[in-house]
Amino acid sequence: MTGAQGQDRESLTTMFQRLIANYGPITLQHYMGEANARYYAGKDPLGSGGDFITAPEISQMFGELIGLWLADIWIRAGRDEAVHYVELGPGRGTLAKDALRAMKRYGLEPQVHFVESSTTLKDIQIAAVPGARLHADLSTLPMDGPLLVVGNEFLDALPVRQLVRIADGWRERMVDVQDGRFRPVAGTKPMDAAIPPALKDSPEGTLIETCPGAAAVVYELAGRLVHQGGAALLIDYGHDAPRTGSTLQALKAHQRVDPFTMPGEADLTCHVDFAALANVALSHDCRHLGTVTQGRFLRDLGIEARAQALAKVAPQHEAALHLAKDRLIEEGQMGALFKVMGLASPDWPDGASF
Ligand code: SAH
Repeated sequence: MTGAQGQDRESLTTMFQRLIANYGPITLQHYMGEANARYYAGKDPLGSGGDFITAPEISQMFGELIGLWLADIWIRAGRDEAVHYVELGPGRGTLAKDALRAMKRYGLEPQVHFVESSTTLKDIQIAAVPGARLHADLSTLPMDGPLLVVGNEFLDALPVRQLVRIADGWRERMVDVQDGRFRPVAGTKPMDAAIPPALKDSPEGTLIETCPGAAAVVYELAGRLVHQGGAALLIDYGHDAPRTGSTLQALKAHQRVDPFTMPGEADLTCHVDFAALANVALSHDCRHLGTVTQGRFLRDLGIEARAQALAKVAPQHEAALHLAKDRLIEEGQMGALFKVMGLASPDWPDGASF
C-alpha cells in the first residue's frame, strides 16, 4: 500500500466514524456510494495485479463481439452517420478499443464518449482511445444523432439501498460503529410505506435491495434512445427475476472480503436486478430487446468461430484462447451469472441474440 492510499483509508474511515458518532448511523447507500467513489478515484483496480478482472480484460473477443452486435443493428437501422458510441465506466478502455476496431470493418466509425468518474482511469482511457470525449455523467452527452451505448460492470458498482423486515415492521439498513468496527444495523425510522404490497408481510429477516442510481441511469438512457434513436447493451452479473436477500460483496486482490472493513479500499458491488431495470426502460416507452445470459449472447454472436480464427493466426496461443473463451461463456464461470440486457429505440430493429 502506498502512503497516499493509507492516508485515504484513514480519512474515509475516520470521516465515517466521526459522522456516525455525531449524527448516528448512516445509510448503507451512503456508505457504499462514498466507499466506491474513493475506491475508483485513486487507482486502476483491473487486471491480475489489481482487485478483479472483467470480461474485456480476459479476451479481445468480448469487445469485438459487442462491436459486431452494434455494427449489425446500426446497419439494419439505416447506417446513420451521425451516430455516437457511448461507454459507461469504460475501465481501461479495452472494450471500446476492441469494439471500435470491429465496428470499423463494417464502416462504422462513431464519435466516442466515455462516462467516467475516476481521474486515474480517465488518463488510461484517453491513452487507449485518443479523441474520446469524457463526461462526468449522462447529462452532457450529445443530444443529436443516435447513441450506441455499452456498459460492462458499471451498474453493479452503483450504491444500493437495503430495506429489512424486523419484528416491528420494515427499516432501512444502516451502518453503525460497534466496538470500533462498522456493522450493518436496522434503522429506527419505519419504512413500511416504501415496500411493495406483495412483500409487506414477509417474514422477519427478509431483505429487499434496490439501486436508485441504476434506475436513474436506465431512465435517462431510455429517454435518450426514444428521442435520438439507438441501442444499448448493459452487461453485468445479476438476476432476471425479482428476489430478496443481500447481494453486497467486496473484492480485494481477487478475494472476497468483509464489505464493512476498509471502506474505499475494496470494490463494493451488488447484483443487478435486470427485471426492475427492464420495467424502468419500458415505463419510458423504450424497447426492451430482452435479457439473456452472457454465454448465450456470445455463442449466438459466434465466439467459437472467432476463437478458432484467432487460434489459426496465432497457434501458440490456442490453449489460452480456448480457456479465455470458456471463462466467458461456461455456466460455472461467467456464462450464466452474467446477463446482457438489450434496449433500443422503438424505431430500431431487433438486435442479434435477443
Ligand atoms: N467496464 C470496464 C470497467 C468496469 S469497473 C470493464 O469491463 O473492464 C467500473 C467502472 O465504472 C470503472 O471505470 C469506474 O471508474 C466506473 N464508475 C464507477 N462508478 C461510477 C460513477 N458513479 N460514475 C461514473 N463512472 C463510474
